[in-house]
Amino acid sequence: MKPTLIIGGGIVGLFTAYFLNKEGIEVTVIDRTDLSENCSTGNAGMIVPSHIIPLAAPGMISKGISWMFSSKSPFYIHPRLDMKLAKWCLLFFKAANEAQVNRAIPFLKNLSLLSKFLYLEFKEAHPEAALALQEKGLMMAYQTQAVEKEEVEFAHLARKHGLEAEILTPDDLRKVEPNLELKARGAVLLPGDAHLDPGALYGFLNKYLKEKGVKFLSNTQVTDFEKTGSKVSAVITDKGKIDAEKVILCGGSWSGELAQMLGFSLPMMGGKGYSFLQENKPEIMQATILTEQKVAVSPYGAHIRFGGTMEIAGTNQSINRNRVKGIYEAINRYYPDFQAKFPEEGKIWKGLRPCSPDGLPYIGFAPNYTNVLVNSGHSMMGVSLAPASGKIVAELHQQKDTSTEIAGFEVGRYA
Ligand SMILES: Cc1cc2nc3c(=O)[nH]c(=O)nc-3n(C[C@H](O)[C@H](O)[C@H](O)COP(=O)(O)OP(=O)(O)OC[C@H]3O[C@@H](n4cnc5c(N)ncnc54)[C@H](O)[C@@H]3O)c2cc1C
Repeated sequence: MKPTLIIGGGIVGLFTAYFLNKEGIEVTVIDRTDLSENCSTGNAGMIVPSHIIPLAAPGMISKGISWMFSSKSPFYIHPRLDMKLAKWCLLFFKAANEAQVNRAIPFLKNLSLLSKFLYLEFKEAHPEAALALQEKGLMMAYQTQAVEKEEVEFAHLARKHGLEAEILTPDDLRKVEPNLELKARGAVLLPGDAHLDPGALYGFLNKYLKEKGVKFLSNTQVTDFEKTGSKVSAVITDKGKIDAEKVILCGGSWSGELAQMLGFSLPMMGGKGYSFLQENKPEIMQATILTEQKVAVSPYGAHIRFGGTMEIAGTNQSINRNRVKGIYEAINRYYPDFQAKFPEEGKIWKGLRPCSPDGLPYIGFAPNYTNVLVNSGHSMMGVSLAPASGKIVAELHQQKDTSTEIAGFEVGRYA
């Protein structure tokens, strides 16, 4: 029997392998790196059923344009002559309207809620994973009146869609953060959100899947496919040919290149971001987004991770220290008493969020193929959504009904 080949061993690939392995399917994960260079280990680890609005939303265009002139801003597109980037930007602008956002909300919400449920099940089933999963919600803290207005409007929208959202005053903030000042006009608390340690999750899944018989071919790059009619019969790698029963593309920011080898278009750009760990002193208690700067704050007791910035970077992985500075400077702007240190070069983590132009993932069968599935493009929510989209792809693989509706994630929408 030939195996199902998963191309890409990031968190999306690993959760896909997890659910296929549960179904008794023989799985091989292929990755071009030694599994240390992806987007899945140093991110902010937030599980966010509240994130029902995709990146491509009406306000992003005007904000994006004003941010583009600052090298420390949260969102940046380095202007360059690149046809792929131009096409992606055009599709992003087309998608950033209210009608598209309203269409996306129920799909994203249901996928996210399923994922949160699966994380709680996963934590119960694998207490040894030590995920540091904290169900304390996510706080959106704001300093300006303009952002307060946006966040409060968002809180009403979230409630309209059945999600919990509380509006906190500066007095409430003092109770949430008793150890230091959080300099903000207020915050919206989203109690249904959670956060975990993404490195612990990734390390556990990697080890667990190997123990369960999933094969890993690391340092192996997929360079082409052998096709027969509407099927892929084998995957060509720089180490040779591997026969395949089915193929699943989980290549993150590189998935567009894999799709191109198969003859269809899957617009994708890497949204580069950075993070660094610090000693948590004085201790910040609450997972928070510093909204004006879009910096994520993920506390894990004695340590804390700060992460952020989104630079539409294709697949360029170089580190821009000025953008890291933007994250660093935000810390004391919101927490003046926190003992922030600028991270040394080797301590800066970087990752490329796989961004589709409309901010929605691609989940389902590849156009014109009967044995190729795609699970990619989760943008800023890959950790949050990986269990649900992995489970759905395993269901499609087994020709079962999917646990939630996936029409909004159609793989061929730009093909
Ligand atoms: C600063 C930052 C903070 C974030 N915070 C959060 C958060 O709080 N919550 C959240 O849900 N998400 C967050 N994200 C986003 C999240 O990290 C990503 O969405 C997620 O990691 C994407 O996972 P992936 O498996 O799709 O891609 P990746 O992790 O990039 O994995 C793709 C893999 O495919 C492999 N590959 C590609 N092409 C080939 C090929 N041709 N042959 C073989 N292998 C190939 C690559 O080597 C790579 O290992 C954050 C991201 C950043 C940068």
